[in-house]
Amino acid sequence: MRFISALVTGASPLLLLATPVLTLNTDPSSHCAIISLVLPGKVAFPGSESYNASGTSYFGLQGRLGPACIALPSSADDVATIVGTLAKLPDAVFAIRSGGHSPNPGWANTAHGITIDLQSLNEVHVSSDGSIASVGSGACWVDVHKVLDPLELEVIRGKFWQRGISAFSPSRGWACDNVVNFQVVLASGEIVDANDSNEYADLSIALKCGQNNLGVVTRFDLRTFRHGLYWGGNLAYPDSTGEAQLAAYITFKGPSYDPLAEIEQSFMYASSPNGSAYRSCLNTMFYAEPVVNPNGLRPFSDIQPQLFSTMRLANATAFAEELDPGQLARSTYVIHTSVTFRFTPEILPRVFAVWKDFRRRIELTRMANLTFVLTFMDIPTQLPHSRKSFGFPPNSYPDRELFLALFSLHWMDASYSSMITIEARILIRDIEDLVADADLRTHSCMRTGPPGGKIQYADMGKRV
Ligand SMILES: Cc1cc2nc3c(=O)[nH]c(=O)nc-3n(C[C@H](O)[C@H](O)[C@H](O)COP(=O)(O)OP(=O)(O)OC[C@H]3O[C@@H](n4cnc5c(N)ncnc54)[C@H](O)[C@@H]3O)c2cc1C
Repeated sequence: MRFISALVTGASPLLLLATPVLTLNTDPSSHCAIISLVLPGKVAFPGSESYNASGTSYFGLQGRLGPACIALPSSADDVATIVGTLAKLPDAVFAIRSGGHSPNPGWANTAHGITIDLQSLNEVHVSSDGSIASVGSGACWVDVHKVLDPLELEVIRGKFWQRGISAFSPSRGWACDNVVNFQVVLASGEIVDANDSNEYADLSIALKCGQNNLGVVTRFDLRTFRHGLYWGGNLAYPDSTGEAQLAAYITFKGPSYDPLAEIEQSFMYASSPNGSAYRSCLNTMFYAEPVVNPNGLRPFSDIQPQLFSTMRLANATAFAEELDPGQLARSTYVIHTSVTFRFTPEILPRVFAVWKDFRRRIELTRMANLTFVLTFMDIPTQLPHSRKSFGFPPNSYPDRELFLALFSLHWMDASYSSMITIEARILIRDIEDLVADADLRTHSCMRTGPPGGKIQYADMGKRV
């Protein structure tokens, strides 16, 4: 009873008609009917064009789950209306989605309830003094660059799509370090600002690494900085350069480490429709200043032979346009998982050897249309003023000390899924064992761990 009167307060006449339904029905279709009453014209049902467009825009096939309906809010007020209504439907199952880039099934979509798709919250505004960019949570980074580049402004953002590790991260930290304010819809349906100096400071800190379940973020206010062109792009090499690549990474992490340099070093394996294999190495590199071929990246740019290079001076929009296509929705199944550990020159070749064993096992199966990639990545620097919930100890140097091995596995044939998932779990287990034996585990929230452990950068099969 209390429940209904709370709902009736301030509700629209249509919702008043719907209230008896609330106490009687717990199935997703009645929840969808209620949401479409409170948000007329903004709820998509199976078979409609907008339902299909939203459903097929998830990065991987496992993310496309077929919810009972998809709510398509276009403002924070719309989100507040949805959340406030759902809060009064205790059995409602719902999921929140911004870019839909997380490939883990059930993280940003639901097979049974309502998916709240925030893609229309994609506005980007710059404050009159240029110091803050306010970005809707449904925007992609390329939308942000298109507004900021003409102003010669930058924010710490993902290199492509919606990510949090950026070309500027080695010197300027995480994307979340540079969020000065979150606009958040709380479970009550209230819209609040959460930042380090207001009553929601705890929420602000928790959101920086906390992932979802804390509220629905509808806008990020990001600190900007002046920036023009910088050097970067892709450099590809044959597989035969593998050992030279590892040696270059060890040099890069050594005493002459340059915090303006950023690299993702990838070892690629692709199989053709007839199962024959092709291997190569790819370095995606950036230097945060307009310096061509800087010393900090020479260990990589000197490696020969090379297959192709797109390294040049360009702005963020140009780099996003080059790199984004690889991040768009694709018709493959995806596992994207990682292990983070303390870096030593000795551990790198040992991790690489485990990867090569895995690759050999897969190659023997002659499975067709696979793309498997091992990427070595740095962890962004820890800024002294940064307040977030990553669990890095104070005065630590994750950029120097930690290291991330990322495994991206793509395949097209659903009948391979269970075998690839088992093999991927063995791969991760073997690397975690290796890291544990070498006493190189990290205890920040970026570590991997057993199901139910802390949230990871990216994990397979874990529900959040
Ligand atoms: C190929 C690939 C490469 C990647 N590389 C990087 C990388 O280099 N650096 C990096 O940092 N990350 C990387 N990621 C991880 C990626 O950044 C995360 O998956 C990120 O969550 C994607 O953002 P999204 O808006 O698409 O989230 P979604 O996939 O839409 O959602 C991810 C999670 O966040 C929740 N969520 C989404 N929006 C909101 C919101 N507004 N409020 C509250 N909760 C919300 C969802 O419910 C879900 O649990 C990569 C992922 C892939 C697949």
